[in-house]
Amino acid sequence: MPTCLVTGGAGFLGSHLCDELLRRDHRVICVDNLETGSLANIEHIRDARFHHLLVDITEPYFVAEPVDFVYHLASPASPIDYLRLPLHTLKVGAYGTHHTLGLAKLHRARFLLASTSEVYGDPQVHPQPESYWGHVNPIGPRGVYDEAKRYAEALTMAYHRQQGVDTSIVRIFNTYGAKMRPHDGRAIPTFLRQALQDRPLTVFGDGSQTRSFCYVDDLIRGIVSLAQSGYHSPVNIGNPDEYTLLELARAVIEVTGSRSEIVHEALPTDDPQVRQPDISLAREVLAWEPEIELREGLRRTIELAGVEALVGLGQR
Ligand code: NAD
Repeated sequence: MPTCLVTGGAGFLGSHLCDELLRRDHRVICVDNLETGSLANIEHIRDARFHHLLVDITEPYFVAEPVDFVYHLASPASPIDYLRLPLHTLKVGAYGTHHTLGLAKLHRARFLLASTSEVYGDPQVHPQPESYWGHVNPIGPRGVYDEAKRYAEALTMAYHRQQGVDTSIVRIFNTYGAKMRPHDGRAIPTFLRQALQDRPLTVFGDGSQTRSFCYVDDLIRGIVSLAQSGYHSPVNIGNPDEYTLLELARAVIEVTGSRSEIVHEALPTDDPQVRQPDISLAREVLAWEPEIELREGLRRTIELAGVEALVGLGQR
């Protein structure tokens, strides 16, 4: 039975990944300091093959038992979090990735870095293939996240080329599903929270900027498939169906049956105008593509999370 270490395993994506790895009969060590994650995301797991280590990966850390796969997901991920934690975000991308790659090297484990479509910045190429090097503002407020991830990618490739570590890099595009925090500032949990309370949906700018939204089960399937492949270069995983933010808001109103109206707010600094993955590489090397379209994913999210959790009753 393989052992997987999941950094950020108590977060949104990490906790879904822990569930999936256990379903596939792997042992799972979840490493998370609960900075933006929560024990509530993993408390349902009652399984002798699972344990959680309360560890801050910006400090050196070690795991005594053998590890076969390292999934490195720990990092603040939503704009609200990384704008609140700019130095921590840079430290997790740098020190946290160093320590985790060192651990993968020690255990001769296959390593997967959770990178992001934000490495493409405000892209000048559309859709974005992995060969595009991006258009990032390094000194804007979002630079702390984008550059931390770009550094983490460079570090991962250096450990691979110079230290012989078996590495992989997934560039994750916007993903949604149950366990997203209602107040984390990302479009889908915000719109769902507002729509389920019949409050106005707040669309930034005129809402013509586009995003592509991947349902979490599709993404996790892609990540595990990449970790189990022998592929080393970055691979985009995301859903290429592209929506304007206005279309997304209307889809949320439709699926929830809400009476909400749509209002507009100022665009955040350096908000990318377009975002759509080119997934030709994932199709070719992993035979992967998403299966769940937006409205179906929204319905599943509401069903699995429940209205109370989505409107944030008793939490922030
Ligand atoms: P999340 O905030 O829910 O999860 C991140 C987890 O990392 C949290 O549980 C947090 O407590 C943990 N963490 C943060 N700093 C830590 C530290 N120093 N030591 C130990 N644990 C620490 O975010 P998420 O949406 O699940 O994102 C997971 C990963 O996927 C991130 O690396 C993110 O950049 C990447 N990603 C996510 C998306 C998305 O749409 N959700 C898109 C692109 C990339």
